[in-house]
Amino acid sequence: EDPMDPHQHDDDTVAESALRPGSLAEFAGQPRVSDQLGLVLDAARHRGSVPDHVLLSGPPGLGKTTLAMIIAAELGVPIRISSGPAIQHAGDLAAILSGLTEGEVFFLDEIHRMSRPAEEMLYLAMEDFRVDVVVGKGPGATAIPLDIPPFTLVGATTRAGLLPGPLRDRFGFTGQLDFYETDSLRAIVRRSARLLGITLVADTDEVIASRSRGTPRIANRLLRRVRDYAQVRADGLLTPAVAAAALELYEVDELGLDRLDRSVLSALCERFNGGPVGLSTLAMAVGEERETVEEVAEPFLVRQGFLMRTPRGRVATARGWAHLGLTMPASAEPDLF
Ligand code: ATP
Repeated sequence: EDPMDPHQHDDDTVAESALRPGSLAEFAGQPRVSDQLGLVLDAARHRGSVPDHVLLSGPPGLGKTTLAMIIAAELGVPIRISSGPAIQHAGDLAAILSGLTEGEVFFLDEIHRMSRPAEEMLYLAMEDFRVDVVVGKGPGATAIPLDIPPFTLVGATTRAGLLPGPLRDRFGFTGQLDFYETDSLRAIVRRSARLLGITLVADTDEVIASRSRGTPRIANRLLRRVRDYAQVRADGLLTPAVAAAALELYEVDELGLDRLDRSVLSALCERFNGGPVGLSTLAMAVGEERETVEEVAEPFLVRQGFLMRTPRGRVATARGWAHLGLTMPASAEPDLF
């Protein structure tokens, strides 16, 4: 298990779901999204109707699934969960949609990875609460329209830009989740510690929060790893020093960069003289998938001000060089204009 992989759900799924906040009031951070979403839900409740479809975008582990579950809980309706890659054929989607109950929330994770025919079926379902079930093949094929109950689609994607325009346009509300501020992560760590029966000494929550890569899933996981470390190597007390030592063991630096983040940044600086270099070349240099570099490492490096995406490729900033303890060579000074 890589404690810093924001994609990877916890082996200990009981722990992960036990830590999920159950209402918007309990959901820490993301004040804008949470506020806007609260309004969408209140208005729907007020009208006694099904709310607009909701699109949630942002890097993995920031709470998209959690928010979908909160939407269902706040509306007092059941939730049905699936994901783009799980829907291979339009028929798979038709089966799910026709099985929904009135007002149900349908959470579709990785919605950008759905097949084309399923996507087209989804357009109609979102707009008219109808699916066309195609019977037969070739010239004799007929489409039989089938009404489905009104539902709320909650789509999740790592980047809204990956969605085709017509799909994006059918969402009434888009919430863009961003990395969490340290204060919100501290609150999450303290809440999780309480739920797990862990006592944090002094500012241990701060040490964990500030190294969690702005990501609640990582914060929760690091909390458990720090607890392990404290129990096995440090008489059980979770102090700032113990947390720092544990996180060093897991190769998490003071700003939360993990091994992947650092290898992307150092490849950029050391092998490509700070760039500009294309995404594919950079991904190949660190032996990772293009998507992993683009959707996991880069957003955090950009957010830290260590890397820039320019039309000519990825470029390391002076801050990026400095974080690695390297001096930016004059030849790497930005010459963007
Ligand atoms: P993925 O898309 O990779 O599934 P996600 O964005 O859906 O990621 P979640 O599974 O919702 O992420 O959240 C990951 C974990 O972080 C959950 O266990 C949840 O408890 C916790 N978490 C997320 N957001 C918050 C929050 N705002 N407050 C408290 N805990 C949170």
